[in-house]
Amino acid sequence: MKRRASELRSVLDQLDREHLRRQRRTIDQFVESGSRVTAIIDGRQLVDFSSNDYLGLARHPAVAAAMSESAERCGSGSGASHLVTGHGAEHARLEEELAAFTGRERALLFSTGYMANLAVMTTLAGRGETVLLDRLSHASLIDGGLLSGARFKRFAHGDSRAAESALAEHSDTTSVVATDGVFSMDGDVGPLAELTHVSKAHDAWLVVDDAHGLGVIGATGRGAVEHFGLNSDAVPVLVGTLGKAFGSFGAFVAGSAELIELLMQKARPYIYTTALPQPVAAASRKALEIAQRETWRRERVLALAARFRAAAEQMGVPLLCATTDPLTPIQPILLGSSEAALDAQQKLLAAGFCVVAIRPPTIPQGSARLRVTLSAAHTESQVDELVETLSRVCAAQNLVS
Ligand code: PMP
Repeated sequence: MKRRASELRSVLDQLDREHLRRQRRTIDQFVESGSRVTAIIDGRQLVDFSSNDYLGLARHPAVAAAMSESAERCGSGSGASHLVTGHGAEHARLEEELAAFTGRERALLFSTGYMANLAVMTTLAGRGETVLLDRLSHASLIDGGLLSGARFKRFAHGDSRAAESALAEHSDTTSVVATDGVFSMDGDVGPLAELTHVSKAHDAWLVVDDAHGLGVIGATGRGAVEHFGLNSDAVPVLVGTLGKAFGSFGAFVAGSAELIELLMQKARPYIYTTALPQPVAAASRKALEIAQRETWRRERVLALAARFRAAAEQMGVPLLCATTDPLTPIQPILLGSSEAALDAQQKLLAAGFCVVAIRPPTIPQGSARLRVTLSAAHTESQVDELVETLSRVCAAQNLVS
């Protein structure tokens, strides 16, 4: 417990000493001519290479119009939780559309992905049981596991054999195996096919959080699960978010009718919170429709990711993600120390690019990085200029190979 002001100050001072103090940036307005990825951030005009708006839908006029039309009809707030009087027609339709999109019986909306993961983990695991998680899983899966009261085991990143031996060791008690689909800070995918076999063999639930894969990867944009050719039987619990590729806000869990009913009845992060405003659900519905119709968005963001990688490789810029199977829009650059990552971030800002340094505890010690993300809204020349700047910045730190 840090109760006294001096103790709070000393924690903050330590963050400064270790180059770990985080800072917010304030976005004032978007620049029309910059295809809505150029913004005035803290007074400077910058191209944003750090958002999760992979398909360029977060500022799409039709998505914004769907939101404002719904606000005129339904107002700004839902006024209550879903189980009281907060559940509206936009929510109900969006849930049906998400169930159809993911090929599952039902879907349940949550206000955030963080809450969806807390809900899944605390509903499917409990005291006396064991939860197995990939070491680099998102913080919300980890926090959900901790909150569930289950014993908690983490296996080496992407290592299904490690998962298998952990499962064999705790086979009587393991109720959930969980992983990200696309890993948010690394841009690679979990070994879903192998984890399917392992979890099935031990009768555990496989939970896949595909916040960064849905809408983007897989032959038709149905995410990591589609990339690996897995159905709802193989991956019974699928978590997705609406604030990333779908350019809106909120999240959902998709699965069997029974799983969804149980979450609705039991999950505290569903029950004890105000329902997402209906205009937000209306925006998600429009974005989902556009994402499915305009397949060029998915193709474009991946083509830009390939262009970025090819140029970075040619210039010796240290790409973190070694694999391109599948290629994803998350292409981090490994800097190592937090100080080096912050220095690189500053130099990129000076050159007109917003690329945020990611430091511990979000990622392991010694692996600080610039998390570059591509969007369908970027132009080729913005990508080329970013790589050239990165190559100069990395060369100054003796990091080009
Ligand atoms: N899962 C993953 C893998 C994420 O990256 C995030 C967001 N960073 C979340 C869940 C949480 O989603 P939300 O932002 O909707 O809370």
